[in-house]
Amino acid sequence: MSGSGSGSGSGIRFDSVTVAYDGNVVLDALDLTVAPGEVMALLGPSGSGKTTALRAVAGFVRPASGRVFLGGRDVTDLPPYRRGVGMVVQQYALFPHLRVEENVAFGLRAQKVPRAEIRGRVAEALEMTGMGAYGRRYPRELSGGQQQRVAIARALAIRPDVLLLDEPLSALDARLRSGMLAELARLHRELPEVSILYVTHDQVEALTLADRIAVMDRARLRACGTPKELYRAPADEFTASFVGNANLLPVTVGEDGVLFGERRIKVAGEVPLGAATLCVRPHLIGLGDGPNQLPGAVREIQWRGATHRLFVDVDGGRLMADVRELRDPPVLGDAVTLHFAPEDAVLLPAEVGHE
Ligand code: ADP
Repeated sequence: MSGSGSGSGSGIRFDSVTVAYDGNVVLDALDLTVAPGEVMALLGPSGSGKTTALRAVAGFVRPASGRVFLGGRDVTDLPPYRRGVGMVVQQYALFPHLRVEENVAFGLRAQKVPRAEIRGRVAEALEMTGMGAYGRRYPRELSGGQQQRVAIARALAIRPDVLLLDEPLSALDARLRSGMLAELARLHRELPEVSILYVTHDQVEALTLADRIAVMDRARLRACGTPKELYRAPADEFTASFVGNANLLPVTVGEDGVLFGERRIKVAGEVPLGAATLCVRPHLIGLGDGPNQLPGAVREIQWRGATHRLFVDVDGGRLMADVRELRDPPVLGDAVTLHFAPEDAVLLPAEVGHE
């Protein structure tokens, strides 16, 4: 199955797209490009404008200003059915009175695909999502996960150039979710030319599936990069804490180094003078002596199977450390020493007043 559908071509571009409801700007001059065949996750808290961005691509909301391009073509003024996009939303949204095969055929009928062709296209889409044997059933006769597969089959049946997924897994339980994540990754490998825009507030989904992640915060694009870039070298505190867990410590950068409380910390790379935030990922903090050594007291300890998560009060703040499961873990109140390598610490601009 190849993305050729309505001929818009693959690839998405937001050119300064602003959307407002009743004068409230909920998407503020978004500039973002999704390359042909790329999976872009829109990650951010609830209400940050992710779904609105997706709906602007689908054609369900009209930007107050800016343009939307699909495959290089300006589609801002096109109705949804002429954009060649497939969309899957959180709540399956299948027609309850139609059989699975009729649900999947729906978009093809709307596109006036010849009847003789519809049957084959429906079978193909159902096969791709592992639902080939369920065509005659009604949605109520399927589990939640199966219904979502049908919704994905319906989106794929029109052979979209662009697939829009809006929290497609959030109605499923955790175990199903991880299975479906793998399924989506497989589907993308089978359809490498289809661009995917994937809305989620779940960082695991974003880190697992996306080639790049666009981090949204209060109607604005905060950061955009590969999962690795955003995880290893986040540009700001919001991104650091939204993509993975992060210790964010207030530090002062002086002529003679970085001070955390009374302690001098070694950090790799050049940094501007003044107040800053030190970001260290919890799994990069070690227990015991080492570089950037910090004495502290254990305030909480959580066993997580392969790791112990320690919360340790040190002079100047509290650190979270994920250490490999310990045979003889410390107990509450124990004095411990933590350390981290200079190259594992990132200095970020101090964000005053950002919650
Ligand atoms: P997200 O997907 O990141 O949770 P949304 O794009 O759904 O965020 O919403 C962004 C903001 O726009 C929210 O404050 C939401 O309440 C508002 N909003 C969304 N849809 C409408 C609408 N149809 N009318 C008015 N406000 C809306």
